[in-house]
Amino acid sequence: MASTVLVTGGAGYIGSHTVLQLLLGGYKAVVVDNLDNSSQISLKRVQELAGDHGSNLVFHKIDLRDKPALEKLFASEKFDSVIHFAGLKAVGESVQKPLLYYDNNLIGTITLLEVMVAHGCKNLVFSSSATVYGWPKVVPCTEESPISAMNPYGRTKLFIEEICRDIYQSDKSWKIILLRYFNPVGAHSSGYIGEDPRGIPNNLMPFVQQVAVGRRPALTVFGTDYGTKDGTGVRDYIHVVDLADGHIAALKKLSDPSVGCEVYNLGTGKGTSVLEMVSSFEKVSGKKIPLEMADRRPGDAEIVYASTEKAERELNWKAKYGIDEMCRDQWNWASKNPYGYEPPAALEK
Ligand code: NAD
Ligand code: UDP
Repeated sequence: MASTVLVTGGAGYIGSHTVLQLLLGGYKAVVVDNLDNSSQISLKRVQELAGDHGSNLVFHKIDLRDKPALEKLFASEKFDSVIHFAGLKAVGESVQKPLLYYDNNLIGTITLLEVMVAHGCKNLVFSSSATVYGWPKVVPCTEESPISAMNPYGRTKLFIEEICRDIYQSDKSWKIILLRYFNPVGAHSSGYIGEDPRGIPNNLMPFVQQVAVGRRPALTVFGTDYGTKDGTGVRDYIHVVDLADGHIAALKKLSDPSVGCEVYNLGTGKGTSVLEMVSSFEKVSGKKIPLEMADRRPGDAEIVYASTEKAERELNWKAKYGIDEMCRDQWNWASKNPYGYEPPAALEK
């Protein structure tokens, strides 16, 4: 019988790509999402892309903080594991509305963990973030590098990691993998699913994509005086399909008896500057991205990239795609869906 995975936040950007890889890998995926930052259309498209496996996808519109709804779901189905993506992720918004972030991300997670225990499901893969490395003094970041938080969003990731370590200490029958993502970009090569943020994008590539399709006039480059090759910030961009595959590798690892509560970086190990990223996007899209040079964004680190050795060694996983492929697939999705999944009514013909 196929293994059944509960995917929280599965309608979102990384979740939808992971659900597709799960289905293609023969898993049954049950998604819970409140659709706060996503559209159910993503899952309809995932179902189509999955072909014959599409029928192994089930969706429930549930907010994780709604314990009775979660209880009911767990009572109706047995889950072998949970992949927990659901959360709010906008750094700037978390500074403005910390309680919203603590409520959604922490209470949502605690509720999920309580219901999991009550129903005897103790296998978890959690979406952590490279944000827990703060402004790293040494790169590449290894899983042993010091961790800290620069804002309420980052603090929710840090707290949830600590909660997971604590529950494992209290009950060694938990199996938990904390995945620290670096910078996910790109889209499925079909251009049928991709990132569709609500409002003004915070992250680099969604902003670039909106400039390319004419929704915004120019990209603001935050900081040109960093101690990097061209003065702009350096990050470890990873193709979202590689990231999704990293989750399948993590799920497989959960069945290894030696696993307790483990952390893995998911990145490529390569640092790319803002200007290099823009240049690659311009090359593959043929679109000019007008730039406005600006001051550093408060709280931004200078250089962040991953050590990938632990994931390669223990998860048997390695990112396959490079920057040009990430930009190509980002553009393919953007050009086919310039207004995301749900274009404003005025634009629909
Ligand atoms: P996303 O916003 O596209 O997906 C998150 C999903 O969770 C959305 O569909 C949203 O509707 C849902 N959600 C939020 N709160 C919920 C709640 N209380 N109950 C039910 N559903 C809820 O974001 P994403 O980029 O796919 O990120 C997924 C996870 O990965 C998040 O936890 C995020 O913090 C983490 N992460 C993302 C990045 C990134 O750059 N995208 C980097 C590191 C870590
Ligand atoms: N960045 C930028 N303009 C934008 C958004 C981001 O110059 O509109 C820069 C940012 O300063 C950083 C890099 O792009 O150096 C990646 O930023 P993002 O927010 O995508 O990821 P994070 O900083 O959280 O790693």
